[in-house]
Amino acid sequence: MIGVRILMGLCLLMPALSFAAVQVQAARAWSAPDSTRIVLDTDGPAEHRLTVLHDPDRVVVDVPNVDLKASLDALNVSGAVYDRVRSAMHDGQTLRIVFDLNTRVRPKSFFLKPNERYGHRLVVDLFREDAGESSKGDASVQKSSAGRDVIVAIDAGHGGEDSGAIGPGGTKEKDVVLAIAERLRSKVEQEPGMKPLMIRGSDYFVSLNGRRRLAQQQRADLFVSIHADSTGRNPKARGASVYALSTKGASSEAARVLADSENSTDLIGGVNLEDKDDVLTSVLLDLSQTGTIEASLDLGNRVINELGKVGSVHKERVEQAGFVVLKSLGIPSILVESGFISNRTEERKLRDTMYQELIANSVMRGVRSYFADHAPPDTLLASTNIQHVIQPGETLATIAQHYQVSILALRSLNEITGDLLQVGQVLRIPRALDALAH
Ligand SMILES: [Zn+2]
Repeated sequence: MIGVRILMGLCLLMPALSFAAVQVQAARAWSAPDSTRIVLDTDGPAEHRLTVLHDPDRVVVDVPNVDLKASLDALNVSGAVYDRVRSAMHDGQTLRIVFDLNTRVRPKSFFLKPNERYGHRLVVDLFREDAGESSKGDASVQKSSAGRDVIVAIDAGHGGEDSGAIGPGGTKEKDVVLAIAERLRSKVEQEPGMKPLMIRGSDYFVSLNGRRRLAQQQRADLFVSIHADSTGRNPKARGASVYALSTKGASSEAARVLADSENSTDLIGGVNLEDKDDVLTSVLLDLSQTGTIEASLDLGNRVINELGKVGSVHKERVEQAGFVVLKSLGIPSILVESGFISNRTEERKLRDTMYQELIANSVMRGVRSYFADHAPPDTLLASTNIQHVIQPGETLATIAQHYQVSILALRSLNEITGDLLQVGQVLRIPRALDALAH
């Protein structure tokens, strides 16, 4: 047959005298924009074989010596790279699963050892062959004569296999942080001179390196990772926190524990740790990171200040620890813990759309304030931001007249609703009038 490729899975050594079949206990699948992930839970390591067939395109997964205890219906998910899943037992012991593809794929499969949340897992990733091309389209940076948009990468933590922390009422971190991220996305979208980049658009898993890679490929100017805190030690712990990367150890024991927990997402979400490239990448990134930490702390302080104005913050200052996801080469990056999902009251708040809006607003204000001072030189924001310090006797009208801008534009850019100005207050003045069509 033409175009047949066979990929042998990990042939793990079985105990010599063991005849016990491997149980397949559950199956699930997740769809990401560039791939579909299939996960089989087993009660021990198993061999498997993966074959790609063409005309029609399909992927066949064979798992020998199996005792099938689960329905495979859950593998039918919308948005998948396949239209249909078929399965059958061959010779009474080999499980064969056939995926009828709707696109060409590059498959990858691996076995994961048990961790705190799951037992043994067989993971099959089917990557769309055309994924590279379609995502390149997004990278095209919008340019006008006044400069390009700054790109704000919005990273909703966890997803798919990895639910993140789970509250006492069953709320999953991955769901509430995605809701906050969506709100932040629409705010960034509405902001003149800014463009959002969603690192995770719905309920699927992205590895820590995958998150950073995406931000770098799409040339993000800023990276905000959104999470919800959890602690078993103090059920009353509350408030939001902001973290930046540290390459020299954590600023507190709690920050270190938190970083360890957030960094374990790859183990839970399912990353093949034998992937040497990823390990090498993170080592290389460490070496060139220090330059952006200062910028990240600046950004983080602005965000925590805004959070402090609207609600309780857990720590007044930005904390630092070795968060893998923040090691984005040359990109100022922060991690926002939007509240304690382990606290019953805060769990309820995190589900509340008003609170989600509050958090998104605070992050937006911090980001806006950061770019007001640090807009990259080739951007629209750099050409529009002039700072004006209010002097005694000045009003919105006199300032508007002085700079030949509308009062409406001044109000909008500075989020001013009333007429009161304070002496010493800093106003941002829109310069490129045509770009800020107000
Ligand atoms: Zn998290």
